[in-house]
Amino acid sequence: LGPRQVKNAIFTWVRPEKQQDPELLAVSPAAMRDLGLALSEADTEEFRQVAVGNKIIGWDEETLSGPGYPWAQCYGGFQFGQWAGQLGDGRAISLFEGTNPATGVRYEVQLKGAGMTPYSRFADGKAVLRSSIREFIVSENLHALGIPSTRALAISLLPHSRVRRETMEPGAIVVRMAQSWLRFGNFDILRARGDRKLVRQLATYIGEEVFDGWDKLPGRLADPEGAPGDEPPRGIPKETIEGPPGAEENRFHRLYREIIRRNALTVAKWQIYGFMNGVLNTDNTSILGLSIDFGPFAFMDNFDPNYTPNHDDFALRYSYRNQATIIWWNLVRLGEALGELIGAGPEVDSDSFVTNGLNFDDEAASKPIEERAHKLITQAGEEFKAVFMGEFKRLFTARLGLKTYKESDFDSLFDSLLNTMEALELDYNLFFRRLSTLKTADLQTEEGRQKAAEVFFSQVEDVPGPGTDKEKACKRVGEWLDKWRVRIEEDWSTSAADSEERVVAMKKVNPSFIPRGWILDEVIRRVEKQGERDVLKRVLHMATHPFEDAWTGKEFEDGPTGKGIYQGDKA
Ligand code: AMP
Ligand code: MG
Ligand code: MG
Repeated sequence: LGPRQVKNAIFTWVRPEKQQDPELLAVSPAAMRDLGLALSEADTEEFRQVAVGNKIIGWDEETLSGPGYPWAQCYGGFQFGQWAGQLGDGRAISLFEGTNPATGVRYEVQLKGAGMTPYSRFADGKAVLRSSIREFIVSENLHALGIPSTRALAISLLPHSRVRRETMEPGAIVVRMAQSWLRFGNFDILRARGDRKLVRQLATYIGEEVFDGWDKLPGRLADPEGAPGDEPPRGIPKETIEGPPGAEENRFHRLYREIIRRNALTVAKWQIYGFMNGVLNTDNTSILGLSIDFGPFAFMDNFDPNYTPNHDDFALRYSYRNQATIIWWNLVRLGEALGELIGAGPEVDSDSFVTNGLNFDDEAASKPIEERAHKLITQAGEEFKAVFMGEFKRLFTARLGLKTYKESDFDSLFDSLLNTMEALELDYNLFFRRLSTLKTADLQTEEGRQKAAEVFFSQVEDVPGPGTDKEKACKRVGEWLDKWRVRIEEDWSTSAADSEERVVAMKKVNPSFIPRGWILDEVIRRVEKQGERDVLKRVLHMATHPFEDAWTGKEFEDGPTGKGIYQGDKA
């Protein structure tokens, strides 16, 4: 195997390497449940062997036959805005698709780090324990936070494998799963090859199989009576999905818009929880709007919109503040790849329609199609913004404990809070959790607010001295708290403002635990260097129950500065 250009295909059959003495480190109970497996199945020898690719479900090694064989996907991508050519699953190998009989949800299960594929280019096809632990924990945490994500089922250590990175590191394999691993890059590569037939085939497969049928895609001609297919999904306001006149709309345009909406919802949730992927190339942007490909990702500690966890990202392309813009940039590349189909008008819906009948070399014939595609992509940009803003406002409102959103909240509460957090270097997620338990009754006077504000500074190491900046800082937070108090009292009524119900509602959306970089570093060190095992299960449990009160804040030793001053995310 080695670098090679694949033609006329979008995947390659490939077998994982055999592994010796793998050690199953941890299993995600939530992922097992979602796949439809009992947790006890992970105790079997068969599971351990499947989890590292030694045994292939659906393939008999003796007779070399069976219904299933593993495969790796071919894709391309725009990396940091530049076309990077053919990429592909360089260290991921899909094993099978499995449907949970109870939910009917189908997952494609794959291994990461199981050896080379035709898409490994000049790399080794391996994954190190460090990045595998990071992916394992964050996939499951994002899901638990309500953020669409690819999932992680299990992680195994390969005791004999040493992988060359900056230093030599132990190797590992993560079993992961997603309803689809298709990403924008799968279309980018077909567009680059000029394979219009395969673009249509892949888009058709996604419409029919991944999204479960064209009639499941809302956004058809807006029917004032509301046809079943027009049900607004996931609480998206109906106006935002009605879109342009149906005369120009076809199934591929509806598919494109569904992909847009899903990605808009996901990037809004990233912004809400301060999650940064760090490498939002088109090969790392999911057709299903899943968080996908976990490299240098991070959650925000102190609120800083210019933060990027990617040390190579000098231009801050993938910083917090740019994520929505970049996802839209990626969506435009997808729109271009689908342009011929999107712009072809309703006749494209006919199964007898021949894609290659539209000849882009014939300028007269292709011009109106291109123009229509361009117009529809631009219109879809408005929908992206609307869905993004709707979700952002909905969740910000919830994080503040408000039941209703008022137009004035955006400036007076959201924007002013983010500005305050940025100026005072406050911890983003901790702020909301601490806010959850404040009592409006304690915020009636300036002294009360001043005192309440101090809770937000308790994790700051170099708290400014009395009478100096700290007092000013608390005053600024106190002023914001006063505006918040007024809205809470208005929204809940004064008597219910401090009710248990309000606190519970806030804690349900404001995590007490998130897997911060320094926490993951500590877990990795303890697993790798100190041979600890329980700490991995413990952090997985916290990551999959992120809203619970129970975390003591003493779970992890170091704190972000390594000086043990971190108080934990305790409410
Ligand atoms: P990423 O930066 O993770 O999106 O990866 C970009 C491309 O490089 C993808 O096609 C990966 O499959 C491939 N790749 C990254 N690391 C490795 C590795 N260790 N072995 C093989 N391929 C890799
Ligand atoms: Mg990638
Ligand atoms: Mg990666």
